[in-house]
Amino acid sequence: MYVRPFDPWKSKLCTCPQKYSFNPYTGCSHRCIYCYSTYIPRFHELRIKKDLLRNLLKDLERIPKNSIVSMSNSSDPYPPIESSLKLTRECLKIMSNFDIRLLILTKSNIVERDLDVFPKKTAVSITITSLETAKIIEPNAPEPEKRIQALKIIKECGIPVILRLDPIIPFLTENEALRVLEKCDFVDHVVTSTLKLRKDILSRFSKVFPDLANIYRNIYTERFGNYMYLQKDIRIRILKQIEKKCSEFGISCAFCREGIPFKAKSCDGTHLILS
Ligand code: SF4
Repeated sequence: MYVRPFDPWKSKLCTCPQKYSFNPYTGCSHRCIYCYSTYIPRFHELRIKKDLLRNLLKDLERIPKNSIVSMSNSSDPYPPIESSLKLTRECLKIMSNFDIRLLILTKSNIVERDLDVFPKKTAVSITITSLETAKIIEPNAPEPEKRIQALKIIKECGIPVILRLDPIIPFLTENEALRVLEKCDFVDHVVTSTLKLRKDILSRFSKVFPDLANIYRNIYTERFGNYMYLQKDIRIRILKQIEKKCSEFGISCAFCREGIPFKAKSCDGTHLILS
């Protein structure tokens, strides 16, 4: 089964509506240092799923009408190879024949190419965590400016757009996140969160930002499931700053797996998709 019930990494803090998850690719080549999916074996080796299109078709025939399908949660549907391979594009063409509500999640501007084959009920969520620092923390992902441009183009076509300011890296991208938000004041919804740590994530940070990793050892004091969380007062300070800016711009704002209440109608922006 390639279209599966969404499992939020077994997090009790997840506020997502009931939805399905679909990843056209296995693994991801963007190599973000904060990636939460690196527990998946050989994660940085991008792989193509066996009989992807045939299985997608079979799965879509099985799920209830008007279901929410989120593509993708633990990889990116638009790795660089998608430019030539057009596998996600073929998936979208198949999805267009079904009554589903599709949420596309990506860190790539390639998504704008596929506007002509989006299912009728679609929203697009693009992650932009930072501006200058993106080169270091998301080395193989397209430049943030290209992603901002893609959000604009998609919005101009009447499709709801969501900015994922996620995760905010404490003491590193806090100010840049606010600048990203200023550049994206046209979006319909913002999802934000603070960096969560696992042993492997902290070890990647130690290699690139040793001083920061040392600070984190003292302020990541809460544990939820497999993740260490920043102490709550710092999380609230960071998240409330984003929420305040969103409210100045009239944009709804939600927090992802934070256990902190928000006013938006959904965390992931699925409330924006036609039903
Ligand atoms: S784009 Fe997402 S899945 Fe890919 S490496 Fe970055 S965080 Fe991980």
